[in-house]
Amino acid sequence: MALRIQALHVGTMPDHPKTAVTFGRGHRETVDIAIIMFLITGGEHPVIVDTGTGTPAQTESLHGFPLIRTPEQEPLAALAAVGVDPADVKTVINTHLHWDHCSNNDLFPNARILVQEEELRYAVDPLPTNHWTYERRPGIEPCWMKGFDRIETVSGDVDLFPGIRLVHLPGHSPGSQGVVVEAENDRYLIAGDCITYHDNWDGDERLAHIPTGGLTNLHEFFDSFDKIEGLGCTVIPSHDPRVLEHGIFT
Ligand SMILES: [Zn+2]
Repeated sequence: MALRIQALHVGTMPDHPKTAVTFGRGHRETVDIAIIMFLITGGEHPVIVDTGTGTPAQTESLHGFPLIRTPEQEPLAALAAVGVDPADVKTVINTHLHWDHCSNNDLFPNARILVQEEELRYAVDPLPTNHWTYERRPGIEPCWMKGFDRIETVSGDVDLFPGIRLVHLPGHSPGSQGVVVEAENDRYLIAGDCITYHDNWDGDERLAHIPTGGLTNLHEFFDSFDKIEGLGCTVIPSHDPRVLEHGIFT
């Protein structure tokens, strides 16, 4: 069976400053941040890429952002709607360990959780500007510690399964990674926050591609853009509501 990707909607952070998405652009604009869990089917078992934010209460109290999550957008409900039992998921890939990408790793009790080694190292001891992003704060267990005993690290680019490849794309964070999926009709890149909105990849009159507002290394970010150019993929951004309108990538 051919591989395919489904974008599962597990919440929205409304009215987010656009400067968080596009570096130095959109100072007076806001955008909706779609929280998306990606499901890859057609292989030996279902694979999940990123697991989204915690509950609206956690998102508000720990990060100060409102999160809208309807009952059908509860992660377990979203999985049930597409016929996936979390117990059958044997692989979870985190594109990186920011709180809005890994907070439901513990919903998949039988999955190994694949993270770049460099990302795990950075999550333990991030720059002060990233302490909140990795929930490195007194008195709480960081989101990425959920399922910690099942984390397996990878280094660099790795062929994971037939038609599924991990590619290291640093810049947004040191160990950000994307997932290349060879589907029947196209080759896709689930890009993580290297490409948050289509606007990042589409660029503007000044830049071919625009980094995200939050980043750890601009040099690496532009190298990652060059690398993506060479992959020849259709890019799937991490938080763009248009990805949900598209829904299924075959
Ligand atoms: Zn991020």
